Amino acid sequence: MPVSIQVTTRSRNQMKDITGDVQKAIAEAGASDGLCTIYVPHTTAGVTINEGADPAVCQDILDKLEDLVPPNAGYRHMEGNADSHVKASLMGSSASVMVENGRLVLGTWQKIFFCEFDGPRTRKVYVSVSG
Ligand code: ZN
Repeated sequence: MPVSIQVTTRSRNQMKDITGDVQKAIAEAGASDGLCTIYVPHTTAGVTINEGADPAVCQDILDKLEDLVPPNAGYRHMEGNADSHVKASLMGSSASVMVENGRLVLGTWQKIFFCEFDGPRTRKVYVSVSG
């Protein structure tokens, strides 16, 4: 059964470290070993795992996504946020991380990032551990 995490973002494009929130959700669910799915139920936000030690990495990712998918570049989608949808698909809507003894099995520099592309907003992320 998934647990939901609330994520509040403060700008249109933002990568927010949610590793601690995911770890807390796993602890609250009492999960010990299995595969954790982190799922974002939104069409203009995503999730990715990358380096959390140097914040410049996230800024580089956001800057490069902006270069690749600029806003207002002749899109067909009339809502005005086509770039947000494209960026969300590039990042993906879910990530999977192994869980061992109740702890996320992440590499030394890895963190789980909620990727906002049409903020600021209050968003939801589902966390579920199976196996
Ligand atoms: Zn839209």
